[in-house]
Amino acid sequence: MQNRELVIIGGGPAGLSAAVEARKLGIKDVLVIDRESEPGGILKQCIHTGFGLHIFNEELTGPEYAERFIEEAERLGVEIMLDTMVLELTADRRLVAINSREGLVEIKAKTVILAMGCRERTRGAINIPGFRPAGVFTAGTAQRFVNIEGYMPGRKIVILGSGDIGLIMARRLTLEGAEVQCVVEIMPYSNGLIRNVVQCLEDYDIPLLLKHTVVNIHGRKRVEGVTIAEVDDDMKPVMETARFVSCDTLLLSVGLIPENELSRMTNIEIDEVTGGPVVNQRLETSLPGIFACGNVLHVHDLVDYVTQEAVLAARGAALYLASGSKKYEHIPVVTGDNLRYVLPQRINVDAVLEGKVNFFMRSVRPMAKAELFIESEWGVIKSRTLRHVRPSEMISIQVSRDEMIGSEIIKFRLQEEGGRVEHGN
Ligand SMILES: Cc1cc2nc3c(=O)[nH]c(=O)nc-3n(C[C@H](O)[C@H](O)[C@H](O)COP(=O)(O)OP(=O)(O)OC[C@H]3O[C@@H](n4cnc5c(N)ncnc54)[C@H](O)[C@@H]3O)c2cc1C
Repeated sequence: MQNRELVIIGGGPAGLSAAVEARKLGIKDVLVIDRESEPGGILKQCIHTGFGLHIFNEELTGPEYAERFIEEAERLGVEIMLDTMVLELTADRRLVAINSREGLVEIKAKTVILAMGCRERTRGAINIPGFRPAGVFTAGTAQRFVNIEGYMPGRKIVILGSGDIGLIMARRLTLEGAEVQCVVEIMPYSNGLIRNVVQCLEDYDIPLLLKHTVVNIHGRKRVEGVTIAEVDDDMKPVMETARFVSCDTLLLSVGLIPENELSRMTNIEIDEVTGGPVVNQRLETSLPGIFACGNVLHVHDLVDYVTQEAVLAARGAALYLASGSKKYEHIPVVTGDNLRYVLPQRINVDAVLEGKVNFFMRSVRPMAKAELFIESEWGVIKSRTLRHVRPSEMISIQVSRDEMIGSEIIKFRLQEEGGRVEHGN
């Protein structure tokens, strides 16, 4: 059994940023474990630019962004154990991992940071009828084939779901010579960043069919086409509008699921809306000494926010190592009107680091203009006017300890101004 100060599960941008910060804070023994043969997580396959605008004020590609943290981690003496899958985690921070060199590796950690990222929803999760022909991929798998393995998944492509991965793959496959027939989106608005709708679809004349879905996949051996149909306001297909679209490949970009099998194994409290652990202002989960950051906590659109969160989780771990487990009294953070979730879900106002908390949240639908209200039981403590609110773009706001002091509840709500927006591009 190895004894470690800090073990970070996952060597993507969250795990690497947390490791770098932990070393800078003086934690000597920092071990990052990743099941892949190279660190960097999902960024290794994201060869488009758009990473790091907030943190570095530069437009980097995914591998470039990751490389900065890999180099820094190596320079600071972070140990990275690759090709190693963590299989088990217990509430008292014992881990079992496996690799082909050492077999089973048992570790007792004083602190753990969960940074396992997320995975894509597959065809099984959305129940599209039809046979099971070759040619149905998740968009991320296709991205890996094209950008890392050097294979084309197909030539005539339909993409279901307009999340960022689907949009980016529409452009990528077009640049590689494929014909992208259309991107089909069940919602009345795109689920990706506006810049990706413009740069990946509009610039290449790829149609975005809002309020549409795929209702059948044709072909026995290989995909021969799909049937698409409009959906009504209850998202039920209107079969009179059904039409056949010829294609040899269907890419699914229908959402990401935080990888919390290990968290569930330890009985960490999970937020059913985010799919990630419930955390406090230090990103500490319901189990003392176990922290979480990045996509395993909630799905992010920008990697810069992942890095910010990872820094906070590392600071939480450093404080835990310095002062041990403390029983904090938390007050609840309540998600009010027009918001899907707010994170962290609870806070201890006295133990707020650096005098402020960075809250992250997502709206339930697009709005042209809205007022964000932060309230305690005494009334409004802060408000901010927001323009072009969209579920795909995370809202973040800082609230200072002074603004929250004495409160027993903090509630966030969004009030739409100037009428409802349906087609919010
Ligand atoms: C296609 C795509 C395009 C994107 N485009 C942009 C963009 O343009 N700009 C931007 O800022 N952001 C973008 N993002 C978002 C950004 O890349 C992610 O938010 C970020 O990579 C999440 O980092 P992470 O470390 O939490 O997760 P990941 O990068 O997924 O890393 C998680 C790591 O954990 C490892 N792991 C999981 N479970 C285990 C286990 N049990 N044992 C060992 N290892 C494990 C995995 O192997 C993986 O390496 C994009 C994301 C995608 C998918």
